[in-house]
Amino acid sequence: MDFESKINIMKEYAREENIPIMQDDGIEFLTSFIEKKNIKNILEIGTAIGYSAIMMAHVNSDIHITTIERDEARYLEALKNIKKFHMEERITLVFNDALNIEDNGEYDLIFIDAAKGKNIDFFNHFEKNLKENGYIITDNMGFHGYVEMNEEEIESKNIRGIVRKIKDYIYFLENNMQYKTIIYKIGDGIAVTERR
Ligand code: SAH
Ligand code: MG
Repeated sequence: MDFESKINIMKEYAREENIPIMQDDGIEFLTSFIEKKNIKNILEIGTAIGYSAIMMAHVNSDIHITTIERDEARYLEALKNIKKFHMEERITLVFNDALNIEDNGEYDLIFIDAAKGKNIDFFNHFEKNLKENGYIITDNMGFHGYVEMNEEEIESKNIRGIVRKIKDYIYFLENNMQYKTIIYKIGDGIAVTERR
């Protein structure tokens, strides 16, 4: 089976099981970015079933990815998928809560795509692993349009809580004097952060 067909099976599985993998335009942006910036070492927080990790690894055969997932069922599914694509040598899958991981790798890119309310924690925890000229990319900055809505319009208290945390993260990024950030309205909203 070719790459495309295997990817389509994963996408179909994600749709059926309601697993929030990256949207097509988001993944297109991310993989182009990796190619353009010649990124080789990536840390991903939030593997789900391995879709974005496999897509990123596919950009170039000398790319290596470490990816962390805390949900066991998803971790096991990701393990299967990585094998199916014969990428075990290039994708290191870690089953744990990312905030429990003490990693001493150095990365050109840290891709944050996990619990939306924890982005500041992920950023602070893994900042030390970012290479001097590296990037931090964060997904779901728009949270399905909720971040742009007035808070009164959002009925769910739970969703309002997450929106507040995403806004806190935007504030944190914009006021971080060591980094500059651009937020793109692509996919579910993607923030690209680099050192000043
Ligand atoms: N990057 C994937 C989608 C990830 S969905 C893709 O586009 O293909 C977000 C995942 O993050 C979920 O599977 C969730 O279980 C995981 N997650 C959330 N918080 C986490 C944490 N603190 N540590 C590790 N994984 C986490
Ligand atoms: Mg996401």
